[in-house]
Amino acid sequence: MSGPILLPGATGLNGSGQPTTLGVMGGGQLGRMFVQAAQAMGYFTVVLDPDVISPAGLVSHYHIQTDYLDQQGLAQLMQRCAAVTTEFENVPAPALVTLGAARPTAPSADAVAIAQDRIKEKAHLARSGVPVAPYAVIETAAQLNAVADQLLPGILKTARLGYDGKGQVRCHNRTELASAWDTLKNVPCVLEQMLPLAAECSVIVARGWDGEVVHFAPQLNLHREGILAVTEAYAGNMPPVLANQAVEAAKNIAAELNYVGVLCVEFFVLAEDTPESDAIGALVVNEMAPRPHNSGHYTLDACDVSQFDLQVRTLAGLPLAQPRQHSAAVMLNLLGDLWVDGATPRWDQVLALPGVHLHLYGKLKASKGRKMGHLTVTAASPEQARSTALAAAGVLGIAPF
Ligand code: ATP
Ligand code: MG
Repeated sequence: MSGPILLPGATGLNGSGQPTTLGVMGGGQLGRMFVQAAQAMGYFTVVLDPDVISPAGLVSHYHIQTDYLDQQGLAQLMQRCAAVTTEFENVPAPALVTLGAARPTAPSADAVAIAQDRIKEKAHLARSGVPVAPYAVIETAAQLNAVADQLLPGILKTARLGYDGKGQVRCHNRTELASAWDTLKNVPCVLEQMLPLAAECSVIVARGWDGEVVHFAPQLNLHREGILAVTEAYAGNMPPVLANQAVEAAKNIAAELNYVGVLCVEFFVLAEDTPESDAIGALVVNEMAPRPHNSGHYTLDACDVSQFDLQVRTLAGLPLAQPRQHSAAVMLNLLGDLWVDGATPRWDQVLALPGVHLHLYGKLKASKGRKMGHLTVTAASPEQARSTALAAAGVLGIAPF
C-alpha cells in the first residue's frame, strides 16, 4: 500500500498558496491533540463533529458541524482536506468508506470496522497469533444457554459501542448471565472469562503507508471502575520479557491488519501461578483502539515525538523515526468527579510541584467519570515521577496508587 506525501505548510511555487489541510472525524480530546500537533507542523485542520462546541472543533481552523453520515458534510470535508484520520473508533465505518474512496484515509474503514466490533476483533487477534481471554459469542438464546462453565464468572460485553467500561456486566452464574443479556437489550455480545489480573498495560505503535513501524515502550495502566486512572511510563515498569512480548504482539497485530496510523493494543498481565496463566500464558490481549490512546498522552511531554505527532506523520506519509522517551512519566486522568462540588481544582498548588504538565480539554461541563483533562508528571527518575504524581493526586483528592 502506498500513500501520498503531503508536505506541511503553504504549497505552490512561491509558497504563497493555501496550506495543506488535514481532516479528522470526531471532535473529542484526541481530535483536539491531533489538531494541535498538525497545526504545530504548519498544517491547516478541519474537524467533522455533530456538537456545536467540541474540544477539537474549538481549536481547529474549520469545523463542519454535522452528523458523521451526512453526505453533504462528508463532501465538504473531502473538498477541504488532503487526507483524513479518525479520533474515535465509533465513527461509522460507512463514512470512512465514502472518505476512503476520495482521499487517503488512515486508519482504513476496514481496520476501524474490525476494532469497533469485539466479535470481529477477537477473530482478528486469533489470526495474529496472540492469546485473548477465553470467550464465547452470544447472538442468540441458544448460544447463551450453551456457554461453557469455564467462562463463568465472566464479563458480558456488547460487541459494539462500549467504552470506559460501559456496555459491560459482570456475571457470576447462569442466572446473572441471562439477566445481564436482557439488561444489554439482547444485542450481540461476547462473554469473556474473568481473568485474575496482576496488571494491565498497553503498547502504542505507528505504522506508515509503506509498512514502516515505530513504537513506544509499554505503559502500565491502572483502571478504576472500568476507566483509565493512572499510567506509569518508565523503564522497569514491567518485566522486560513481557514488555518485549507485548511490543512484538502489537506490531504483529498492526501488520496483520495492514494498518496505517496509530494503533493502541491493551493487554492484561495475568497473576502468576494461576490455572489461567498456566493455560494461556502471562500476557493476554484485551482489545485494540485504532487511534491514539489515553494511555499514550504522556508522550506529549515525556517523548521527543508524541503519539499525535506520529498520527500526523502516518497520515501525511512522512518518515516516522523511532521516538525516544527522555523523562520518566506518570499520567493522572482528570475526571469530572474533581469538579462535582462546583469548586475549581487547586491547579495553582499542583503546578507548584516540579515537572507537572496540565492538559485541559476545553469541556464546559463536568460530570462524574467524564474525561476533562490529564496531568503528566515528568522527572529524571521513576521514583521522583511517582512521588510527585502522588503529591499531585493528594492535592486533587485522587486516591493514591
Ligand atoms: P476502554 O475502551 O475505555 O478501554 P472498554 O469499555 O472497552 O474500555 P474493556 O477494556 O473491555 O472496556 O474493560 C475495561 C476494564 O475492565 C479492563 O481494563 C479491565 O480492568 C477489566 N476487564 C475487562 N475484561 C476483563 C476480563 N476478561 N478479566 C478481568 N478483567 C477484565
Ligand atoms: Mg479497554
